[in-house]
Amino acid sequence: MTDVIEAPAAVKPINHWIGGSLTAGRSGRSGAVYNPATGQQTGAVDFASVEEVDQAVQAAKAAFPAWRAMSLAKRAELFFRIRELVHDRRDTIARILTSEHGKVLSDATGEVTRGLEVIEFCCGLPTLLKGGMTEQASTGVDVYSLRQPLGVVAGITPFNFPAMVPMWMWAPALACGNTFVLKPSEKDPSASLFTAELLKEAGVPDGVFNVIHGDKVAVDALLEHPDIAAISFVGSTPIARYVYETATSKGKRCQALGGAKNHMVVLPDADIDMAADAAVSAAYGSAGERCMAVSMLVAVGDVADPLVDAIKQRIPNVKVGDGMQPESEMGPLITREHRDKVASYLDGEGDLVVDGRDSCPDDGFFLGPSLLDHLTPSDRAYKDEIFGPVLGITRVSSYDDAVRLVNENPYGNGTAIFTRDGGVARQFQFDVQAGMVGVNVPIPVPVAYYSFGGWKSSLFGDRHIYGPEGIDFYTRTKVVTERWPDPATSKVDLGFPQTR
Ligand code: NAD
Repeated sequence: MTDVIEAPAAVKPINHWIGGSLTAGRSGRSGAVYNPATGQQTGAVDFASVEEVDQAVQAAKAAFPAWRAMSLAKRAELFFRIRELVHDRRDTIARILTSEHGKVLSDATGEVTRGLEVIEFCCGLPTLLKGGMTEQASTGVDVYSLRQPLGVVAGITPFNFPAMVPMWMWAPALACGNTFVLKPSEKDPSASLFTAELLKEAGVPDGVFNVIHGDKVAVDALLEHPDIAAISFVGSTPIARYVYETATSKGKRCQALGGAKNHMVVLPDADIDMAADAAVSAAYGSAGERCMAVSMLVAVGDVADPLVDAIKQRIPNVKVGDGMQPESEMGPLITREHRDKVASYLDGEGDLVVDGRDSCPDDGFFLGPSLLDHLTPSDRAYKDEIFGPVLGITRVSSYDDAVRLVNENPYGNGTAIFTRDGGVARQFQFDVQAGMVGVNVPIPVPVAYYSFGGWKSSLFGDRHIYGPEGIDFYTRTKVVTERWPDPATSKVDLGFPQTR
């Protein structure tokens, strides 16, 4: 591996977006942004101070009354325009993602497409925001319920989906009539600024969508800010727990999605080639930097040896390289430190069947697909969310043992079963403690009209993200009871209101 080559001349400044325009940071603090495929620094991102966070919140607060009052017909029209712009520019967005995250272009385009589905769902906002109505709840009394926005809401997002995860948040938040402050990952921040420009081009008023960059200082300023009503967070479990506890202690609504250790269970009757294809795709896609990546494969009974062989055969065919090259199937990891941390798991417990250090480009932050067999739940490589291209195998003798492993794991994001037995698959769906389950589907990310979220340490809060639960999260209900009696019938009545 070569050392990182600093290239200050080519480093672009990455500013905040406040009140509808780029705003240079004044804190004097910034972070380095790299092209992970070359290891070169390409950007310097401003880190916001508490005052700069407040400036963004005040811009969102000032924009809220008019945005909230905009007719649903007009807001929906804006959403259709946003949808068209994101769709038209998806290749540009994908290139931004690849240049800072490293994922291959086809994968980056897939990310934009899945985010676009959430925007499309939000185009139906007049229907999504419909309340309920009961005529004649009591004699001459009607009752109706409304969904109203919360006010200024904030999103804090991880590095691994720099466009899609923000879309999970800002699209439903704005559709519901809230204004938004986004704090994207400081490792790949440019996609958020491009989104801000697109929203402005679509006609979203200034201040409705703001971006502030930064680290813990900016996150804490959002968590503590009295004018922020709700926080959506996606990231690692320790930070998710911290964000949830801090935000809720300040009286904010909070959904905080955390890390994962997704198990793929393969039963003896499964089609070995299909299971091996799925395992390789789901473990090494995006270099394993997906919260829904398969990181543990649970081989039941005598399926283990042929399955490990089939996976081993496929690994050399995975084309590792710069994500901008169309032939690349797997790109680098996000930073040198993260690559080195992931690689450290290869020298621990288990049998190292394929060592990804043997076959990857010299420049940049690459690590090839790696395979660790015979892991047990007490091994570090089993317990930790490695978040890299390392697939662990554990071998068990029965379906019950496999389900016990999944259920005893502290994470509960996604899981999958591969089998040809519909009855066992149904039982798995019934037994398993995870928020998203795949049957012969290795990465069961729900479509946009369902909601995304895990169980246990993979989610803090009681609302999953996007879909119907996203609309619930970004609105609060109000119930109105009304009557229009003849004043001639009016009298004093100190009894508790009765409905019969
Ligand atoms: P991370 O937790 O390091 O960072 C997430 C966000 O929190 C970033 O914006 C970061 O700036 C901020 N942050 C980091 N440290 C902080 C601190 N000490 N105090 C306050 N804020 C802090 O996560 P990451 O490395 O960017 O992303 C990878 C993680 O995200 C993985 O654990 C992955 O499983 C998880 N993830 C989960 C989902 C999901 O839907 N459950 C989706 C994507 C990613």
